[in-house]
Amino acid sequence: MDLHFPNYPYSKILGWSNSRYDLFGICKRKYLYSYYPNAFGRQADKIKELKNLTTIALEIGNLYHDVMEVFLERLQKSDNPIDEKKLFAFIDKLCADKLPNKAFFENYYKTATVNIGEIGSKVKLCVENFLDSPIFDWLVSTKMEDRQNWLVEAGSKMNGTKYFGETRINGLKAYCKMDFIFVIDDKIYIIDWKTGKKDESKHTKQLLAYALAAKGLNAKISAEKIFPRAVFINGIYEEMGVEITDDRLTGFVEVVKKETAEMQSFCSNIEENIPLPIENFEKCGKENVCRFCEFRELCD
Ligand code: SF4
Repeated sequence: MDLHFPNYPYSKILGWSNSRYDLFGICKRKYLYSYYPNAFGRQADKIKELKNLTTIALEIGNLYHDVMEVFLERLQKSDNPIDEKKLFAFIDKLCADKLPNKAFFENYYKTATVNIGEIGSKVKLCVENFLDSPIFDWLVSTKMEDRQNWLVEAGSKMNGTKYFGETRINGLKAYCKMDFIFVIDDKIYIIDWKTGKKDESKHTKQLLAYALAAKGLNAKISAEKIFPRAVFINGIYEEMGVEITDDRLTGFVEVVKKETAEMQSFCSNIEENIPLPIENFEKCGKENVCRFCEFRELCD
C-alpha cells in the first residue's frame, strides 16, 4: 500500500492543529503572540525573540526525536547489534553541537541552571528506555523489506521537501505532523514519541488527528486498519493506543470544524489570516500558566 503525501499550494488561511487549539484554550494573548508576531509592528522582533526561547524539557524532546530519526534510518539498513557506546557518543555530540546555540527560557528568566551534560543524560535515559521496550523488540522483528516503507518524520522523503505535516480534514487546512508512520500487511501504524507527561484527553485528540490525516494518504485505507500510538519514553515506559472507527473519525471531523471556526472568529480577515486587535485576546492571568510563559515580560 502506497502512502501519498500531496503538496498543497501555499495559502494564508489558518490551519488547525491540536497544539494550536490547545494554546488558544490556555491563553488568548499567548496565542496571539505565538501565531501572529508580525501583527506587532516594531515590537515584532522582541516577540519573535521570546517565541524562540526553548526550555530544557523541550530540548530533551527535540534531541530524542533527532536521535530516533537517525536511529530508525539505521535500522532500515542494518540489523547489526546496537553499539550503545557509539550511540551515546553520538548523543553527546548532538548536545554539544546544538544546545550552545539555543536561547533557553531558564537562562532568560533566570529560573534554573541549564546543564548540557544533564540534558544529554536525560536523552540517554529515554533512549535506554526505548532500547529496553517492547516497541523496539517489535521493530527489529519486522522484515527488512517492510522497513523500507518506514517514514520517519513522515513525508519528508516522499516529496523531498521539508515536511510540516500539512493536510486537509474535510477540506479544512490542518497540520498533523507524525513522528513515524509505516505500513505492514495493509495496516498503518503511527508512532508518536512522548518525552513529557501523559495527558489522556490531549493525546487521544492528537492520535485521532493523526488517524484522520493517515486516512487521507490512501483512499483504500479503512479506519479499523489504522493504529496510532503514543509512546511515553521518559520515566516509566508506557504506550497509549486509540481504537479507530469510521464513527470516531466522523465525530472528530466535526471537532476540527468547530475548533477552526472558533479560532477564525478571532480573525478580522479569515482568508488573509489577520487577527483582531490585541484587546480581543484576553490574558489568562493564571499564575501557574504565566510562570512558565515565554512572553511573561510583556504581561508583567
Ligand atoms: S504571561 Fe500569562 S497572560 Fe501573558 S501571555 Fe503568557 S500566559 Fe498569557
